[in-house]
Amino acid sequence: MTQADRGPGGRDYKESDPFYHRAAWKRLRAAALQRDQGMCQECMRRLRAGYGIRPRRATMVHHIEPVSERPDLALRLDNLVSLCDECHNRMHPEKGAREKAEKVKTRNRMRVIKV
Ligand SMILES: [Zn+2]
Ligand SMILES: [Zn+2]
Repeated sequence: MTQADRGPGGRDYKESDPFYHRAAWKRLRAAALQRDQGMCQECMRRLRAGYGIRPRRATMVHHIEPVSERPDLALRLDNLVSLCDECHNRMHPEKGAREKAEKVKTRNRMRVIKV
């Protein structure tokens, strides 16, 4: 039997954190998408704010409070929001060129709409 490394094929998860592999997360993710009717909630918010955009379907579920900072909220439905790729990138300025200060501002704004 070969002892080949079975890494490459099996780990193309977008988020590499083991948290995302857990069954509980998969269930919760599905519940969030269902609650948001599969639509990107940031697109919907912008639409309501009068941007005149066409809302896109959500492609992932994002943690409003990052798991790294609030692991206790990781599996809370009200800490999840369905987003499209484009809006999700905006929620993660640390992946782009934005400063950390911008990230804090975004988080504070999101906190307001928490139920
Ligand atoms: Zn969007
Ligand atoms: Zn995210």
